[in-house]
Amino acid sequence: MKIHEYQARELLRNAGIPVPPGQVIETIDDAAGAYRRASDAAGTGLVVVKAQVHAGGRGKAGFVKLVKSADEATEAARFMLTHRMISPQTGAEGLEVKKLLVAAGVEIAKEFYLAITTDRATRRNVLIASREGGVEIEKIAHERPDAILKEPLHPLMGLQEHQARRVAFDLGFAGKQVGQAVRVMLSLARLFLAKDCSLAEINPLVLTPPTREQPDGQVLAIDAKFNFDDNATFRHDDISAMFDPTEENPAEMRARRFGLSYIALDGAIGCLVNGAGLAMSTMDIVKLHGQEPANFLDVGGGASEEAVTEAFSIILSDRRVKGVLVNIFGGIMRCDVIAQGIINAATNFKNPDGSIGFKVPLVVRLEGTNVEAGRTLLKGARARIPTMHAATDLTDAAKKVCAAVA
Ligand code: GDP
Ligand code: MN
Repeated sequence: MKIHEYQARELLRNAGIPVPPGQVIETIDDAAGAYRRASDAAGTGLVVVKAQVHAGGRGKAGFVKLVKSADEATEAARFMLTHRMISPQTGAEGLEVKKLLVAAGVEIAKEFYLAITTDRATRRNVLIASREGGVEIEKIAHERPDAILKEPLHPLMGLQEHQARRVAFDLGFAGKQVGQAVRVMLSLARLFLAKDCSLAEINPLVLTPPTREQPDGQVLAIDAKFNFDDNATFRHDDISAMFDPTEENPAEMRARRFGLSYIALDGAIGCLVNGAGLAMSTMDIVKLHGQEPANFLDVGGGASEEAVTEAFSIILSDRRVKGVLVNIFGGIMRCDVIAQGIINAATNFKNPDGSIGFKVPLVVRLEGTNVEAGRTLLKGARARIPTMHAATDLTDAAKKVCAAVA
């Protein structure tokens, strides 16, 4: 599960990590008032307007704008709320922006990268830091991996102060900055564990220029990103409450309501399967025979007839789908339930042009519990589903569906 930057800032603030104050707005009219409040807090007139979407790369896309007046803030808000944001993280169609964060801007002397995540290679949580923070971190990681510091977290004791101090010195912090940076790192590491994160990232963590009151400058978080382990959100009501369904793929949300897992992909073959392992092998074999999966929809173990019917409807409402491969190995899932779901969906499915029934080729491979009953049901319905083909095994199924859309 992902959250917005403004929610991530709230988590950081509650964990004691300094974050500039800000306010969320949803209309252009609210920009001027939000500018004045943020500007009062900043004391410099410098304010930043930032699109709140579940994707990064906003700075380069023009969706993070520094403004110095209420008029500039209004213009920035108008642009962001009336244009879709396209960045390397959004796909070509971009994302609609519904919310903006208007926050006190800060002067920046230096930008750093700081994150906690799980390192699969060492099977530990790890602190990742770099003095090359800001917007190019992916490029740095790729081109100069030595510019990235890594510090493993102890499985029981977490990040320890001596580790954080070493990282702070390696990042080039000096004087009072060291203590501030250490507190940020320790708090972020605690937050990562306490909230069952899979990623807790501050990019950039900034150092502000020296002032009379703060001759060593100040260490602040001005952007943050969190991902949470979906299997653990049940024990974090505060995190669950941050879920924003409008940022999710609508088909994935629809599937979730029926207890189905649906993942949208880019190819032409819709895949209805049971179990994640079977989903992976189904996608592999589709690729092997020359096509790409358009999605995979996992009906899992105990899906009802109604859920299976819904599953078809979700797959077929994806315009990219030129053919459907049903690959079921009945265990807890019964083949006759799947067959009945196919028949229901085929007899009720309403096409965009208003006609009823499947138009695209449908290849069905059933095996396992109640397979004979399932096949008998499908045989009886064959006249009503003219685009349906039975397959003898997985290879036969993949070949048939790929040939049908080629
Ligand atoms: P992202 O591009 O989606 O990661 O958005 P960020 O919030 O990280 O902003 C991108 C860049 O904009 C940062 O790396 C900074 O260089 C700049 N930026 C963002 N907020 C401020 C600010 O308050 N003051 C200044 N001077 N620059 C900012
Ligand atoms: Mn950022």
